[in-house]
Amino acid sequence: MPSGAISGCRSCGAGGLVPVLSLGRTPLANALLSPERLHEPEATYPLELVFCPACSLVQITETVPPEQLFGEYFYFSSFSDTMVGHARDLVRRLVGERGLGPGSLAAEVASNDGYLLQFYREAGIPVLGVEPAANVARVAVQKGIPTVCEFFGAGVAERLAAEGHAADVVHANNVLAHVADLNGVVAGFRRLLKPGGTTSIEVPYVRDMVEGTEFDTIYHEHLCYFSLTALDRLFRRHGLVIWNVERLAIHGGSLRVFATPAESAPEPTEAVRALLAEEQGWGVDTAEYYLGFAGRVERLKRELCGLVAELRAKGKRIAAYGASAKGSTLLNYFGIGAETLEFVADRSTVKQGHFTPGTHLPIHAPEALLEAQPDYVLLLTWNFADEILAQQAEYRRRGGRFIVPVPELRVV
Ligand code: ZN
Repeated sequence: MPSGAISGCRSCGAGGLVPVLSLGRTPLANALLSPERLHEPEATYPLELVFCPACSLVQITETVPPEQLFGEYFYFSSFSDTMVGHARDLVRRLVGERGLGPGSLAAEVASNDGYLLQFYREAGIPVLGVEPAANVARVAVQKGIPTVCEFFGAGVAERLAAEGHAADVVHANNVLAHVADLNGVVAGFRRLLKPGGTTSIEVPYVRDMVEGTEFDTIYHEHLCYFSLTALDRLFRRHGLVIWNVERLAIHGGSLRVFATPAESAPEPTEAVRALLAEEQGWGVDTAEYYLGFAGRVERLKRELCGLVAELRAKGKRIAAYGASAKGSTLLNYFGIGAETLEFVADRSTVKQGHFTPGTHLPIHAPEALLEAQPDYVLLLTWNFADEILAQQAEYRRRGGRFIVPVPELRVV
């Protein structure tokens, strides 16, 4: 698939997409550079956010082929205690609620290193992972999690179903926002589910992104930004009914939706009806709602750039924490680089020794914060603020301070 701009909505196909926010051209947010590649030119792609008035889906226009995005994949879910704890709690709950046992099947799309499916396996429930990144899938298989190394879609689901796989639960956490062929993936969920089986799908919630000025969740891997309204329209197109929804704090605010094949779907819960009505109330179907967001992003840019410039003028030393995709969008769009920041600390051993895309900051282990003891640390992974502030208690005890940029600029 070539890269390029879409001509119509990724969900409903309608034209007339309304521009919301332009972040210019940026390198791929997860394309960390090895020392050898530091002096090679980096590819950049347009990053333009638009709104579909026909189905309400917010999306970016550029599709970068997944092979380019995932060629070298650095994100291992198990490096985050928060992610693993979140997965464990959900699995325990679903095993109980749905009465799952040795005759059941729990599947996960984009199963990463098995961070979630491992808890089903511990409970004696058969599992099946689908994960496109070969190095990550290999880790899962080594842990004993059967994993198909492919991009999930209607074709893969058809083949798995023909092989006799029928799932009681299909998980897909933070995957739907990443896929260019939305309709193929949702059709695939439907194909892989048993009658009466359910999806458990988590997506960042567009309302939380807009209200929290979380513009740094916009990068080329995140093609879509969902409301329940947009998801409901997408799922119904493929014979799936969203019967329950929950709002989660994870990743700056997410939706978890449970959807079941229409013929076996229970009546949607009050939570579904109430959230759909609430979305109409704040204007989910209107471009105006999304346009106010761009102005708030510009204000945050002025505030944060002003703060770090003032600190540098006073001779303060500043590092950053979290060589994340979010951080890449923030640093590249705000133009904060090596003139301001000394390095980025990150707990992921596969990122350490590399450099950040566009800004070329060296990535060190978190211990570097104690060795260098910069005066301030810009927290790029603000979505894990509680976890990271707790891990960095010693740095803070010695007088180090964190700058948390989102949802509101604060120094702690
Ligand atoms: Zn649409």
